[in-house]
Amino acid sequence: MHKGELWKNTLATLEVEVSKPNFAAFISKTKLASLTKGEAVIACPNPLIAERLKKRYAGIIKEVLTNLTGENCRLTFKVQRNQSPSPKTADLGPLFTRLKNGDGLFPSYTFENFVVGLSNQLAHAAALAVANQPGTLHNPLLFYAGVGLGKTHLMHAIGNAVKMKNSEARIHYCPAESFTNEMIEAIQDRRTAAQFKKKFRSVDVLLVDDIQFIAGREATQEEFFNTFNELYLSGKQIILTSDRHPQEIKSLETRLVSRFSGGMIADIQPPDLDLRIAILRQKAKEQGTALNDEIILALAEQVAGSIRQLEGTLTQLLLLTQTHRETAPEELVALVVQNNSYHQPPPSVSPEAILRETCRQFKVPKEALVSGKRTREVVLPRQAAMYLLREVTSLSLEKIGELLGGRDHSTILHGLKVIEERLKADPLFRKQLDVAKTTIQRCGEVETFSGKIGFKTV
Ligand code: ADP
Ligand code: MG
Repeated sequence: MHKGELWKNTLATLEVEVSKPNFAAFISKTKLASLTKGEAVIACPNPLIAERLKKRYAGIIKEVLTNLTGENCRLTFKVQRNQSPSPKTADLGPLFTRLKNGDGLFPSYTFENFVVGLSNQLAHAAALAVANQPGTLHNPLLFYAGVGLGKTHLMHAIGNAVKMKNSEARIHYCPAESFTNEMIEAIQDRRTAAQFKKKFRSVDVLLVDDIQFIAGREATQEEFFNTFNELYLSGKQIILTSDRHPQEIKSLETRLVSRFSGGMIADIQPPDLDLRIAILRQKAKEQGTALNDEIILALAEQVAGSIRQLEGTLTQLLLLTQTHRETAPEELVALVVQNNSYHQPPPSVSPEAILRETCRQFKVPKEALVSGKRTREVVLPRQAAMYLLREVTSLSLEKIGELLGGRDHSTILHGLKVIEERLKADPLFRKQLDVAKTTIQRCGEVETFSGKIGFKTV
């Protein structure tokens, strides 16, 4: 592959792996200066970017380059000022058309191109409702989900829809990280501090992405709390996203947890096979190509992770189909899937296997574990099961509750806390749980789920 082409493909993959602001600020401005015998020299426009890339992104860049070239690449970053700009937006295809406007909204993240399935229908319905009646129905509206499942897209879709209906509406999107950084800069002097306050408190719709980022930051939480209250009290809409339920964000102040829980909280689960197929069809269409059903099915079956991963592999497949016209499509699918082995979901362990092992370890029958019984002999193992399910899988608290006889989300949270406390205080108990966890890890049945539930490695 030609050097320019190779870098273009590398950027296309990185764009879906790295957060958009970071991609735009650091990665998009680079070039591949040379690649000789696996030694890749990456040209950066200034030392700050070179430093940042080296510290934070070297791993993933290396991985992507190695995958694309099939050669184990080593990276060097060098500063090359006044370099000609990196490939133009148009050259990079639709992925790069998500330029932001002054309000921070990505015009291409709309309801029209958001594909709805079982795993995101609740979040989608809430988003539509808020877009139709901002500030009244669900306030705040918070989406939580793992990475690449559509939180940011849905959030922007609301912003874009509100803007469509009312061009006067003041909308502001910002990642929580930018909120924090801007605030730190602004508080240096009185004037800028006042400007900052005004900027965030004079909007009709405020969208803050990845709010978990502010946890543990006292000043930011204080400022956000005040901003939140002011907007909320004047009937302005607040939309947030998070990588987990607010109650599970460590070091998030209780008053914020309670504010965030005061409106509507909707989660998005990993897409099932049907949704993955529908998304691939739509994305291929967006890129002006139609893939046959077999290829779509093969890709959807093999890439069972996030939608971002699905999109990334599709982009690579489409690039390959252009450059390798003579190769059979099935082979290209295999190649892309293999190239993206880091995209593969980790082996999954079934919840049943976890429950079975818990019962064995604590010598209780499964019926008791999922029953209404609240005797000491049953409660502790049940809480241990909650803990193990939480540790080993990425099941939501609701789902864990369901598995354990229809218990609600707060019971599970309480159970998790009890176990965490006990683990600190009781070494014997800790040992027992460790054994259970290792056993699950060793002999956990690896099952292929239809993608409804995403599992973490143990
Ligand atoms: P998150 O914010 O949850 O990490 P994003 O909203 O950035 O995820 O989504 C990742 C990518 O997947 C984006 O390019 C987005 O457009 C796409 N995407 C996510 N969900 C959907 C969906 N339901 N339909 C179409 N595209 C989606
Ligand atoms: Mg996001």
